[in-house]
Amino acid sequence: MARCLTAKAGWEAADACLRFHGGFGCDYDVERKFRETWLYQVAPISTNLILSYVAGHIPGLPRSY
Ligand SMILES: Cc1cc2nc3c(=O)[nH]c(=O)nc-3n(C[C@H](O)[C@H](O)[C@H](O)COP(=O)(O)OP(=O)(O)OC[C@H]3O[C@@H](n4cnc5c(N)ncnc54)[C@H](O)[C@@H]3O)c2cc1C
Repeated sequence: MARCLTAKAGWEAADACLRFHGGFGCDYDVERKFRETWLYQVAPISTNLILSYVAGHIPGLPRSY
């Protein structure tokens, strides 16, 4: 869950940073950082799989895998 939280926090921070730059965000290096925070939602494990694992290991919830 810590991994999931940091991926989400990184994504939201990068999103705020990109928005601060407005349209120029696409031209400056900050766009690269934005893409890198996107990666943390997929690797080394996707946030969907983390959430799926947690959901499947809490008694009473249906398993999705
Ligand atoms: C730049 C980069 C560097 C990497 N370096 C390494 C490395 O050094 N060592 C290493 O071992 N691996 C490395 N990897 C691989 C990385 O661990 C995998 O990319 C990661 O585990 C995601 O697997 P996948 O790419 O097969 O995507 P998938 O697991 O196929 O996921 C694709 C999409 O489907 C979704 N998804 C998949 N299954 C489910 C599900 N059950 N429920 C809901 N949604 C689901 C995911 O959320 C995602 O959006 C690297 C990957 C990248 C991109």
